[in-house]
Amino acid sequence: MPSNSQLVEATSKYLIENYGRLPIAVDRGLGSRFWDADGKCYIDFFAGFGGAGVAGHCHPKIVEAVKAQADKLFCHGNLHTSAPQIELAEAITRHAFGGKVFYCHSGAEANEAAIKLVRLAARGGERKSDGPYKIISFDNGFHGRTMGSLSITPEAFGVGFEPMLPGSVKVPFGDLDAVRAAIDDDTAGVFIEPIQAEGGMNLPTVEFMQGLRALCDEKQILLVCDEVWTAPARTGKWFAYQHYGIEPDVMTVAKAIGGGTPLAAMVASPKYADVLVPGTHGCTMGGNPLCASAAVAMMKLIEDEDLVNAAVVKGERVINAINDANVGCIEQIRYKGLMFGIEFKPDVDALDIMKKCIAKGLWVCVAKNNVLRLAPALTISEADLAEGLEILLSILKK
Ligand code: PLP
Repeated sequence: MPSNSQLVEATSKYLIENYGRLPIAVDRGLGSRFWDADGKCYIDFFAGFGGAGVAGHCHPKIVEAVKAQADKLFCHGNLHTSAPQIELAEAITRHAFGGKVFYCHSGAEANEAAIKLVRLAARGGERKSDGPYKIISFDNGFHGRTMGSLSITPEAFGVGFEPMLPGSVKVPFGDLDAVRAAIDDDTAGVFIEPIQAEGGMNLPTVEFMQGLRALCDEKQILLVCDEVWTAPARTGKWFAYQHYGIEPDVMTVAKAIGGGTPLAAMVASPKYADVLVPGTHGCTMGGNPLCASAAVAMMKLIEDEDLVNAAVVKGERVINAINDANVGCIEQIRYKGLMFGIEFKPDVDALDIMKKCIAKGLWVCVAKNNVLRLAPALTISEADLAEGLEILLSILKK
């Protein structure tokens, strides 16, 4: 078995260096812990970058489901259907707003599907080459790295790759007047994260989200909620839009929805569920039974163990621990459920804190605007939560 440093060295030889990778070669994981190739253990407060967000690593129920499926069938392509695809769609739509599901592998792809659905819906489902095409999205948002999803993500991410999709309009997050001013006859829809994650854990007000819903209705344009980070269950609701008493027309989910496997989905409300017809969109391996069976087991776990409530309870534990420690370097903590953004005062660097945490065996991440991000798995044990917080607080107190 190669050592950690051998694997890290080989990484720069063989893998394209498009990530600012840390010198950690992960070997195995269990629950909220993972081990590098030298056996060093980390407590995972960022849950596999969201991918293991619900059940942590290698949850026995998910492993069992994947093993059973692996003995039967890995993939079938999408001219066929299968039980795991149906069971997962039933669970997602039952906890969301009904409608129907399209499967793919990543958040960016789910947003690509949503951009196409929005354009087609705005043209009355007719495949004509002109019609509404503009998409409004928000400053500090993030929707992915493919050309469509990149176009609706703030300009900085797309520098060097222009031109973006025409009609990609950004407005300040939370500014309803700006959205209204940006809408014209060519506008097809609005994309929003109901809580901005990469942008620094920014929460919109209920009034803004309700106003946005009403404005989209008034202008007859579609509202898309990107729940790639916030779903399922992370924020203390099955889906984060449910905090605002609204329903989107379309929702995109990825990361945790696959139970740790690469699965993503676009969910269209009943009104828009039949906009995409044969030939309009596709994804060969989308919803393959191996990933879908992991996702079904994960959704069942949320139901059986009431992980929606666990997100609230564990989130309170985290906020109380940090507040009780009375740490001077914190400017503000923004959180919902078990999803945290800790913004530091200007003289403290979030990246520096992150590196110190990692050196002490706690995996956390950063976001825009000097924010440290915590998003442990919803199944994290009392002991792991307490130990991770102890490491974090010992560093913050210094
Ligand atoms: N949407 C949001 C809100 C995200 O945070 C991300 C990735 O972090 C994406 C979309 C893109 O997801 P993926 O990396 O799976 O393409």
